[in-house]
Amino acid sequence: MKNSHHDCPKCGSTVTKRCRVLHEQSISEGSHHESQRAFGKRAEPPRITPKAIPVALMAVGAVLLLGGAFLWGLASSIAGAILYYQRAKFEPVYNESLELYERLWICMDCGEVFEPGAAGN
Ligand SMILES: [Zn+2]
Repeated sequence: MKNSHHDCPKCGSTVTKRCRVLHEQSISEGSHHESQRAFGKRAEPPRITPKAIPVALMAVGAVLLLGGAFLWGLASSIAGAILYYQRAKFEPVYNESLELYERLWICMDCGEVFEPGAAGN
């Protein structure tokens, strides 16, 4: 069945894939397909710092402070707190871009990333 809804808006190619699908294939199958290797990078989902990193920094900071390494403990705690704050601020943006990402398709001929139906096509 032809699905013109997902044709590439740039070059008109019918060889298109959901970004999520291409990304998962390029991980699981390695990179033996030329176009998958070339476009796999574009089809990557948005990323966010794992929560464990700032939490670990703050925990290490607390241990250092308790152990008497005041400056290192303070530096680690502050770095962890800043990272935690930045991550919390970024989280809504990340969730939004992830939501958009789930709707994105990529053209396997020209690499155009597009949202089917977004531009009235
Ligand atoms: Zn295209």
